[in-house]
Amino acid sequence: MSNYNWCHGPDCHTQETQSRVRGSGDNKVLRTVKIKENRYGNYQADIWNYFCNQRCLMDFIREHITSVIGIAPRREALETPVKVVKEKYESSRYEYDSYSDRPQRVPYQATRTKIIS
Ligand SMILES: [Zn+2]
Repeated sequence: MSNYNWCHGPDCHTQETQSRVRGSGDNKVLRTVKIKENRYGNYQADIWNYFCNQRCLMDFIREHITSVIGIAPRREALETPVKVVKEKYESSRYEYDSYSDRPQRVPYQATRTKIIS
């Protein structure tokens, strides 16, 4: 048996698409999209079981962001311990010189920070 959810987008029922039209004769309406659970398999099912598209997801977030943040407010930065090494590597840049109208490739020794977890 399949389960369904109504899209939680606050304005889902106002988007003018043929797939939302329901009713007969002069009693037509635009109706909230009915979503079949796991329609994309397990791909982000926790989100796409409740929203028919990105717009509805973002409309919901905009309308309820204060409440959502209130569930798990972050009052301090989190930190992940890491080890860091600086390493040198060969890179290059392009420079114009006075002999040619084309940029010349000039190698140089660059440094980068590598994070080792
Ligand atoms: Zn929707």
